[in-house]
Order: sequence, then structure tokens, then C-alpha cells
Amino acid sequence: MNISDLTMVSARGLLDRGEVSSVELTRAFLDRIGAVEERVRAYITVDRDAALAQAAAADRRIAEGNAGPLTGIPISLKDVLCTEGMQTTAGSRILEGFVPPYDATVTARLKEAGAVILGKAAMDEFAMGSSSETCAFGAPRNPWDLERICGGSSGGSAAAVAACECLASIGSDTGGSIRQPASHCGIVGLKPTYGRVSRFGLLAYASSLDQLGPMTRDVADCALLLSVMSGHDPRDSTSVDEPVPDYGAALGRGVKGMRIGLPAEYFSAGLDPEVEEIVRRAAARLEEAGAELVEVSLPHTDYAVAAYYIIAPAEASSNLSRYDGVRFGFRAADPADLLELYLESRSQGFGAEVKRRIMIGTYALSAGYYDAYYLKGLKVRTLVARDFTNAFEKCDILLSPVAPTPAWKIGEKISDPLSMYLSDILTIPANLAGVPGISVPAGLTAAGLPVGVQLQAPHFREQDLIACARAVEETAGMAGRLPELD
Ligand code: GLN
Repeated sequence: MNISDLTMVSARGLLDRGEVSSVELTRAFLDRIGAVEERVRAYITVDRDAALAQAAAADRRIAEGNAGPLTGIPISLKDVLCTEGMQTTAGSRILEGFVPPYDATVTARLKEAGAVILGKAAMDEFAMGSSSETCAFGAPRNPWDLERICGGSSGGSAAAVAACECLASIGSDTGGSIRQPASHCGIVGLKPTYGRVSRFGLLAYASSLDQLGPMTRDVADCALLLSVMSGHDPRDSTSVDEPVPDYGAALGRGVKGMRIGLPAEYFSAGLDPEVEEIVRRAAARLEEAGAELVEVSLPHTDYAVAAYYIIAPAEASSNLSRYDGVRFGFRAADPADLLELYLESRSQGFGAEVKRRIMIGTYALSAGYYDAYYLKGLKVRTLVARDFTNAFEKCDILLSPVAPTPAWKIGEKISDPLSMYLSDILTIPANLAGVPGISVPAGLTAAGLPVGVQLQAPHFREQDLIACARAVEETAGMAGRLPELD
């Protein structure tokens, strides 16, 4: 068995036919982690013993003929999902040592389906960032080029899948954090419709934008994981009580007759020419496969980043007020009084980017500024959402780049937050509108860096994303390609 040839779907077949046990499979991934992790640094926590115990339980379940869809399959979780009994840090010192007393709903669903949790993947602190460099426990690296960022904020998840340190991972996406690292690491990443997947037990960044989703080697695995994760949860009042379709059934549907819109604003100045060529070639191949290409416009795209960087920090400043040094994780030593306990714990516990956003958010929400900033941001959000409604009258799917450039060098943008923020211009609008989006590998640059194509669909049309993504995968020649780390 060569684990770099496996997907979740093929591993399921091997496990069901008894050709490999979950313990063997889990050991193989733990060995791989041991071999490459020093270079990739995709994980904050790996729990070998817990993983092997889950694998042994999975083998018993398979022997009893009682396997669930993921039974025995080794995966990782972004360290933003609560895991009972396993440290959960959100990439922040302030949560160092925090062991949740409960599982997030998504964690619980994955465990119920039988998945083996190898560990928790590195991420930008509280998911704030596009390069994973703000992680307090060390930045993960891009397995295609270890000098480069793996994207963010779910960078550790993407790097772990690409480096073959797990079969799949779960990421969270507030402004692109699943799709962008998936693109930079050459894997598949899907941000579901807002409300499709429960956020209960996800450490909140910006609650009206956050959504959890699958990060996988291929589109079939993505469909499988999405089916397991999706559905209503009474513990998240924003999760929608809509039936979960059989996403796997969409895989063979093809794109014949599908109207694919190319938004003019997503191909504008600042787009790297190699990225543009790879994305346009992917579109042309879909046309050959029977899709109809149409030009569309999302005229408020240019304002989306500015609105997002008011709304997201505003929500973050409120969400992060709970980290006071009293209830969770880190507490400053020897405070003189309660105020100093708060001040010192937060000053020492949070990193620079998180503090910047708490300050921006607090400012935008304060009396006298609320109307000028926060309310204005919400109005722009409505305009951005309307752009999508209008565009989807002319097409079924929007096709575009995920990010304006391939992965950049570590350190290149970290001291220039504005250029980092602007790199999210093509992914942020979907979060503001709540629509689903996927990144699928579409090609490699001359320097050998992966480039993904982004597909976006109307609310709750994930099955169309899966069908179209599968067609991209079949025609782009990137399926099964992993970086050569050895
Ligand atoms: N890069 C964006 C930010 O820093 C998006 C992050 C995310 O989706 N979590 O906020």
C-alpha cells in the first residue's frame, strides 16, 4: 500500500475488503507525519495513542459489519474545532492548554461516521490571516515549495493533505480560508453555503461569515465528507433545516448544458498572467465538455474587501472578549488585581494581528462610528449579495481564480497587512453573500506551484459545484498529483 495513491473512497474499499486494517493505515500516516513533519509543520497536536485506539475500535466495527462511511479513515481537523479531551488552541497562545470538555457537532459527526482523528492542524491565530504565519506555534510550509506559504488560515490542513499526512482535513472559511490554501497546496477545498454545516463548537471568528468545510485530495472525497458534515443542528440556530442531498450522486452528472459565468471583475488588473491562463484554460475545457460560457458582472466586488475588514473585525472584537484569562487556557502570572489579570492575559495571550483586529472592530462598533463604518459595511454587504443574485440569473456557476497570485514566499507580506488583506479579494464576496464555493486544482505554474480554479453557486447548490468541479478535475490533469517531498 502506497498511502500517496489513496483517497478516502479508495481507502474505504481496502478497509471493507480487509486488504488493510485501520490500525495499519493509521500507523502508515503516523509514520509519514514522523518523516516529514519537521519540514512541513502542518500540525499543532498529533495524538498517536488516541488515533491508534480509534483505529482499533474502527477495525472492530468493520469486523462486526457495522462500518460507517468514514470508519477507519485517518483525517485531521483544523485546530479551531473543539475536540473533547484534545487540546484546541485556534493557533493562539491564549488557548494554550485548553482541552474542551465537549466535541463540536462536526467533530462528533465525523467520529460517529468512524473517522480516526490524527491531530489538530496549524492555522493563523483565530483564523485571521491568509498565510498561516500568524500561528503562535510556528507557521506550516507549502509542501510544493517549503520556502513558500501554504495559504491560510486553514494552511496546516491544506499542507497536511498535500504532504500526505492525513487523507483529508476540515477547514473553516470566513473570507477564503478553505479555498485559498486548497488552491496554493493543490487540493480540493469547499466552503458550503452559510447554514449548511453546524458551527457549534467552532471557535468563532466572525459568526455571520464562518463556515466549516472539507479539504480533500479529490472531488469524490469532498462530496463524501460534505454529506457527513452537513445538516441541521438544534445547537446552531443558523444551521438550516434543509434536506441534505446525496452529493456523491452529482459526481457523474457532467457539465453539458451548464451555463458557466466568467465574472469580468475577477479577471481584472493585478491578476497574475499564469494564474489567468490556467483558469481560462480550465473554462475552455468545460466548454469543450458541453458547458456554455457567458460573461457576467459582479460590479461591487471592489468594495467587498473594505466591507469585510469592518464586519469581520467587528464580530471578532465581540467574539474574542470571552478570552479574559479566567475561563479558558492561558492566564498571566501574578496579577495585582482583576483588571490587571484581564489586561496582562490578553496582552500576552493574543498576537499582533488579533490585537489589530480587536482594535479595528471595537472602533468600528463604538458610539459615533457605528453608522459611518459598521452600518455602511452592512449596506455594502447587501450590494455584494445582490450582485450574486443578479449574476445567477444568467448562469448556474461562476468560474474564476481563487487568488490573484500563486503562493508567495514566507515573510513576503507579513509586515504589510494591507497587501495580505487584498489577496482575499476573490474569495471574500462569497462569504459576504453566504454562497458556496470550491477550489479545484487546475494546473501548475512554470515554477511548479499549484493553481486552483474557483467555482461558486447559488445558496444550497453544492451539488452543482461538485458536478462542475469533477469536470474540471477530469480535464485538468491534476488528479492524484502530490508534491515530491522526498
Ligand atoms: N484572510 C482572511 C482574514 O484574514 C480570511 C480568513 C478566513 O477565511 N478565516 O480574515
